[in-house]
Amino acid sequence: MTDQVSATIQKRIDDNWQAVCDQVDAACCSAGRSREDVTIVGVTKYVDAAMTQALVRAGCHDLGENRPQVLWQKAEALADPSIRWHLIGHLQRNKSRRTVPLLHRLHSVDSLRLAQTVSENSAELGQSTSCLLEINVSGDQQKHGFDPTQIDQILPALIALPALKIVGLMGMASFDRPDHDPAVDFAALAALRDRLTATTGLPLPELSMGMSGDFEAAIAHGSTCVRIGSRLFEGVR
Ligand SMILES: *Cc1c(COP(=O)(O)O)cnc(C)c1O
Repeated sequence: MTDQVSATIQKRIDDNWQAVCDQVDAACCSAGRSREDVTIVGVTKYVDAAMTQALVRAGCHDLGENRPQVLWQKAEALADPSIRWHLIGHLQRNKSRRTVPLLHRLHSVDSLRLAQTVSENSAELGQSTSCLLEINVSGDQQKHGFDPTQIDQILPALIALPALKIVGLMGMASFDRPDHDPAVDFAALAALRDRLTATTGLPLPELSMGMSGDFEAAIAHGSTCVRIGSRLFEGVR
């Protein structure tokens, strides 16, 4: 069990969630896309379990964490089967076995070795894990993710893994170049997806891209999953 937040904080989180939903609706509308095609993953890495639970109460059931240990702790503390957990940060291979059974989706497959481990651990559980390949589409030095120029070569080995279900790509706009237009990176990720689908025949329907500051541009470029943190916790942290 977790502590409850105050009514004032709950109200603010309810309002933030509603505002983000409204903006995602509007972005889908201007992009001529269906609202059902875009999932909002609420990124809870900034807040404790009580505040995370308040976001669920507000109506957000897809939650993203970037650190596996925190995901373990919150999954246990909240123990809520309505929550779909997404790992959006780097997974070290020695943390895979404990993480895999908790996940709805892994957004951050960033090496063949990790993919092999996740597939092995999934097979042990008799399940298949839904995954996205993280692509370092902006080429930022400090980011994880496959080099977009090398993914063609690695993809056949990834596809061959029996208990890894690759459903799409994940990427982030550049942090290195502050005046850079995020739309350039989103368009590049979407184009890469189209090319990989064409060359391998593997449908890659999911594109996890867009955060608090750039989700509108991501939706305009085909995002199916926006990962939003800061905006949901404005005024409460
Ligand atoms: C923190 C984080 C987010 C959310 O970022 P905000 O700008 O706070 O919305 C999204 N994706 C990843 C991978 C993150 O680490």
